[in-house]
Formats: sequence, structure tokens, C-alpha cells
Amino acid sequence: AKQSGRGRYSYFTAVMSERADQRLRLESELRTAIAEGQLFLVYQPKMLLPERQLSGMEALVRWRHPDGHVVTPLDFIPVAEETGLVVAIDDWVLREACRQNRAWIDAGLPALPVAVNLSLARFDPARIVSGLAQALGSSGMPAELLEVELTESQMLTQGDRADQLIRGIRALGVRVSVDDFGTGYSSLGYLTRHRFDAIKIDRSFVHGLPGDAGQKAVVEAIVAMGRALEYRVIGEGVETEAQAQALLMLGCNEMQGYLLGRPLPASAMEQLLRDAVA
Ligand code: C2E
Ligand code: CA
Ligand code: CA
Ligand code: CA
Repeated sequence: AKQSGRGRYSYFTAVMSERADQRLRLESELRTAIAEGQLFLVYQPKMLLPERQLSGMEALVRWRHPDGHVVTPLDFIPVAEETGLVVAIDDWVLREACRQNRAWIDAGLPALPVAVNLSLARFDPARIVSGLAQALGSSGMPAELLEVELTESQMLTQGDRADQLIRGIRALGVRVSVDDFGTGYSSLGYLTRHRFDAIKIDRSFVHGLPGDAGQKAVVEAIVAMGRALEYRVIGEGVETEAQAQALLMLGCNEMQGYLLGRPLPASAMEQLLRDAVA
């Protein structure tokens, strides 16, 4: 099977926009994928700069399609959100990430937080919170080593229900981060209404660094605001040394991106954890 990276399988995108019956097929294939264990996780490192010290990781879902292709979430999460299948996917991801991190800790590897992405397209706050509690209980993973990433845009469209969810998650001692920050175009009220652990600057703002004066100003403002609120501020999608240097100069010292590490299979992530103690 080929690792898909950035070049995703346009087959599925085409299927989704073209024909309803093929979309239905994708839905049923996805149902099978969840039931028959075709999903797996890759882990992308988060690093503190300038030391390049591993500070955590993000679990990202992949689908090993029976035809041999590895399908990226960009090509199936949207359909999963529309059909409600995303609830089962996110639940599987959560339990697998907790199980794996607990296994690494038991093996004597450094105890670092693992982040999972939770979709708010179809959600019931109470159900998510009890799912989190169950995943922690059955894996024995400490709550403070679990981080939930919620996108700014989804939080903004969910209003009260998102508020309820964030309070519930934090009450468990699980960390919460604001993902894709800067793309929600809306009220910043929620940033002061809740305690978050981190905000992740969307990679569309990192992309133009260091040349783009406008993006630089936006990143600088986000970092200043994040710091004033005592949040960690993570730059996403860092691909070049120049972008990393620019982020550092703008006051951001935690980063994620191909420069620091691509999403890795569990075995390769484990090696990175070993190297971190060595
Ligand atoms: P995201 O949470 O913003 O995750 C970051 C995405 O950017 C990942 O794509 C990652 O591979 C990619 N990326 C990381 N570094 C770089 C870089 O330096 N340059 C570029 N161009 N891209 C980079 P991926 O794994 O395809 O995931 C895409 C999106 O799918 C995620 O965006 C997230 O919104 C969603 N997703 C992934 N896993 C899950 C999951 O388990 N549940 C849910 N609900 N959504 C998920
Ligand atoms: Ca994320
Ligand atoms: Ca993101
Ligand atoms: Ca995203």
C-alpha cells in the first residue's frame, strides 16, 4: 500500500462530487472499514524549538482500503460527518490512541501527551464526555496525557453545546486545544470563556512566512494574544527552516509540520520516543 501524504486519492473526491450512488457505496465501505479494522493511526510529532525537543504527538486517522490504497481523512471524514459515521470513527481513534500511548508508557518510553481530533459535526456532549472517561478508564492512560483538538470553526457553529462539551472535557482533566485557529472568522469570546491548553495557528498563516507581511502580522497578533491568555501557541504546517525561524522570531516556540516530522506509523513514532530518552 502506498502512503498517500499530500497527494490524496482524487478518486474519492471525484466520487463524492459526482454520483449519489457511489457516495452511498463509500458510506457502506466506510461502515465495513470501521467494523473490520481497516482504520489505523499515524502520529505526527509536536516539537519545542529551538531545542527540537519532542513535546507531544497528534494521532491522525488513515484508512487502508481493501484495494490497497491508503485513504487520507480529507477524503472520508466529510462523508463520515454527513452520515454520522464520524462518531464511531472518532471513538475508535480515541480508544486506539489511549491504548497505544499507555503501551508506550508501560514500555518505559517518555510519557508525552497524545492529541486526537474530535469532530463536532454530529455530537452529543454527554456522550463524548462519557466516551472519554471510558477510554481513559479502560486504557489506564492518565487524563493529563490526553489532548482533544477541536476546530475553531466547528466550536463557533455549535455555541452552547460546544461550551458544555469543553467544560465536560476539562472536568475530566483532559486537555483541550483550538485547532485551525484563525479560520473561524468570528467572535473571540470563547477564548476567554474557557480555559484552553493550546491554540494551533492554522497552516494557511504559516505558509506565507517570512515574506508575507500580512500573515506575519496575523501570526504575531495570535501569539501575543495566546501568550496573554497563557496558552501554548503551536504553529502548524511548518515545512521550511525559514518558516520555523520566522515563527520563533514572532514568539512561537512550539511547532508541528513536515520540517519537524511527517505523520509516522506507530513503529516509527516509537523509535522517535526511544531516541528522545537516549
Ligand atoms: P488537522 O487536524 O489540521 O491535521 C493536520 C493535517 O495537516 C494532517 O493531514 C497532516 O498530515 C497535515 N500536515 C502536517 N504537517 C504538514 C505540513 O508541514 N504541510 C502540509 N501541507 N500538511 C501538513 P491529514 O492527516 O490528512 O488530516 C487532515 C484533517 O483530517 C485533519 O486536519 C483533521 O481535521 C482531520 N482528521 C484527521 N484525523 C482525524 C480523526 O481521527 N478524527 C476526525 N474527526 N478528524 C480527523
Ligand atoms: Ca488537529
Ligand atoms: Ca490543524
Ligand atoms: Ca484541519
